[in-house]
Amino acid sequence: MNFFIDVILPIPLQKLYTYSITKAESDFVSVGTRVAVPFGKSKIYTAIVSKIHHEEPKVYVPKSIHQILDESPVITNQQINLWNWISKYYMCSLGEVMRAALPSAFLLESETLISKIELEFNDLDLSDNEFLIYEALQFRPKLKVAEIAAITDRKTVLPLIKQLLEKGIIEVHEEIYEKYKPKLVRYVHLNAIYSNDEKLQELIEQLKRAKKQQQMVLSYFSINSGKIKATKVSDLIKVSGGSSTTVKALIDKGVFLEDYIQEDRVVFNDDNRLEQKSLNQFQNKALEDIKSAFKNHDVALLHGVTSSGKTEVYAKLIASALSKQKNVLYLVPEIALTTQLVGRLQSYFGEKVIVYHSRYSLNERVEAWYKLLNNTSEGFIVLGARSSVLLPLPNLDLIIVDEEHEQSYKQFDPAPRYHARDTAIVLAKFSNAKILLGSATPSLESYYNASNKKYGIVELNERFNNLLLPEMELVDIKDKLKRKRMTGHFSDRLIEEIQFSLEEKGQIILFQNRRGFAPIVECKTCGHSPQCPNCDVSLTYHQFRSELRCHYCSHNIPMIKNCDACGNTSLDTKGFGTEQIETEVKLLFPNYKVARMDLDTTRGKHGYKKVINAFESGSVDILVGTQMLTKGLDFKNVRLVGIMNADTLLNFPDFRAHERSFQLMAQVAGRSGRQGSRGKVLIQTYNPYHKILQQVASHDYKSMYDEQIDQRHNFKYPPVYRLIRITLRQKDYNKVNLASDWMAKSLRQILGSNVLGPEYPSIARIRNQYNKHILVKIPGNQSITKTKEAILKVKNSFTSISEFKSVRVVLNVDNY
Ligand code: ADP
Ligand code: ZN
Repeated sequence: MNFFIDVILPIPLQKLYTYSITKAESDFVSVGTRVAVPFGKSKIYTAIVSKIHHEEPKVYVPKSIHQILDESPVITNQQINLWNWISKYYMCSLGEVMRAALPSAFLLESETLISKIELEFNDLDLSDNEFLIYEALQFRPKLKVAEIAAITDRKTVLPLIKQLLEKGIIEVHEEIYEKYKPKLVRYVHLNAIYSNDEKLQELIEQLKRAKKQQQMVLSYFSINSGKIKATKVSDLIKVSGGSSTTVKALIDKGVFLEDYIQEDRVVFNDDNRLEQKSLNQFQNKALEDIKSAFKNHDVALLHGVTSSGKTEVYAKLIASALSKQKNVLYLVPEIALTTQLVGRLQSYFGEKVIVYHSRYSLNERVEAWYKLLNNTSEGFIVLGARSSVLLPLPNLDLIIVDEEHEQSYKQFDPAPRYHARDTAIVLAKFSNAKILLGSATPSLESYYNASNKKYGIVELNERFNNLLLPEMELVDIKDKLKRKRMTGHFSDRLIEEIQFSLEEKGQIILFQNRRGFAPIVECKTCGHSPQCPNCDVSLTYHQFRSELRCHYCSHNIPMIKNCDACGNTSLDTKGFGTEQIETEVKLLFPNYKVARMDLDTTRGKHGYKKVINAFESGSVDILVGTQMLTKGLDFKNVRLVGIMNADTLLNFPDFRAHERSFQLMAQVAGRSGRQGSRGKVLIQTYNPYHKILQQVASHDYKSMYDEQIDQRHNFKYPPVYRLIRITLRQKDYNKVNLASDWMAKSLRQILGSNVLGPEYPSIARIRNQYNKHILVKIPGNQSITKTKEAILKVKNSFTSISEFKSVRVVLNVDNY
């Protein structure tokens, strides 16, 4: 009997690809193991086995595999099911999902690193080219395939690599993780029998003649102020003046027990261990409501105002899952912004918290992966952003999606263009787990589902500590300008309130959702303004670095002194960003410390942490920032929040602009008055009578929801209709026009008037590529599967037209 495997390759293919394996190999592979396979002319890829069978493919002769890479599967069946769902729902290939899901250290392909194996003999039987590679590896521990091609001056080097592999002289890529050894640090803790005072006295007595050992036990207690906990051996030696022999003696006697703790986990400090807080009556009610919602629903929405203590409610649910030795997935919009949350969860759950961070190194990610894969009996909380929904998560009991309204849960580029919240809902279903969505400003779609009883809903309307929601004030800047009451971008009211807060020793947050100094530089003489050569946007002026920069492609040039067009020096700026606010507020309040938090000030792994810590510790009085400030941060001492300009948010050309504006403003407002006295929020605007602003000012989510839902009904937008956006992308303007006209026409033949466009977005050209959108709206009573099939059919005919070969087609399901 012949054996075959169907595999997922990390490239966009429409089907699984089949390889043949031997009978012997069939004993070693199972679904979820990785295999190295040849594909195309000369490429080797890492593929995942998705099916093992006996049916020979009809249209091609299957190749055999190069090798099996794992002894046991590294992907769970459940992951493969979820990948399948993602690929179908989001209309992308399994390979694209695989690429997004696997840490790149798992993928071996032609870009792979080659390293040599330490051989015990030197008697090598090598061809000239093989020897060249072998020699190069004596000097460089790792080589890329491309480098090998250069060394040997050959285009196709994979056969060569394969031979060296077979001769056992080199190894490929796997070594990156297999050789990975976590850094371990030696700890000891006192045997628990000595928590009994009598026993302890006995011990000290017994050690009378071993002074050093006695001293070490005493030092242990002084370090830990009388408690029993894991203590670094190096600290113990330093404090007690003993040596590692002393430690060994105590371990041999069973006084100390030894622990090795991984270096990265050591960051967690047992001193920070806290009891969970007990809930107040409102939180308790919410907790009970969630539990009863879970009786009838798999999904529940917790609508809890800012600072109502949602996190503490989550903690109770987490504790109950962990007590069953089950796992919890805790999704957050942006992991780098959650240092406070990580601290809080670690103080409750210690080393059970696994943080999955996209800024982690390859090794750290692989390590987290294995920890989860191999663990089925302990119970972990995995805290991570979007992509952590793709991790192996056996034994899942609960998923929490915090700030579920956040747009960062949706991946826009590249494929898979998935939404982590929606994917998590499917994952929960596959795992028989419950899922809780939490937000002070739920997305319209989640609230809609809750209103339609698809989800359970729980309301938590009281701020913790009996604090009131902040007092809101709208400031009419049109009027202020007319009456000359503006200093730069600050109204007299805002200045007064800042002054007042500072005198009261309160901190201040100023929100402006645009970074840089000014988005437009304009010549007053001729009206010209510098544009990005690659994108249809003006260059943003960054004063600090004295440069002009494109926020779409990062193109940048030094700031100009004369107008490019007329040569005059009469340059002016239009609009304003965080940098300008920072500059102005420093001039207005020179005696106070001002910091800025936006993409430009938070680069690097710990960039955010620094700013957050500085503000938290009170060494910064005024923090200026972008929407980063809205994401669930918990500062105790913020008295005042100033929203510098509400209008740019409201006027954004998008059907969700109003919903988003409400969410952003309500969230940033929610940073104030979280402890002590009631907070204050000032919103500067040209349109104080705008409905959304009125709703934000009166904390009226429900009115906002009702009104927006009406509009979604009227204008056929989500959540009432579904959307799939098709983008055509190409360098050539005319070609994009032709192609998108063809595509729209063909779609209309099947889907009729629910096809909109083609239309250029407000920024038509980005990175020298023109984009044109076609929007397919899907009414509630129309089959989504059939609609997708129709779109794929049109797309396939499109791709077969030679004229359009170079036009990229991007499908984005739920593109909002
Ligand atoms: P939310 O996530 O709803 O905005 P948080 O969970 O961050 O609110 O809670 C706001 C603040 O109130 C936090 O500083 C938190 O420590 C505190 N807090 C919430 N619940 C309790 C409680 N039951 N006991 C003590 N402090 C609490
Ligand atoms: Zn650009």
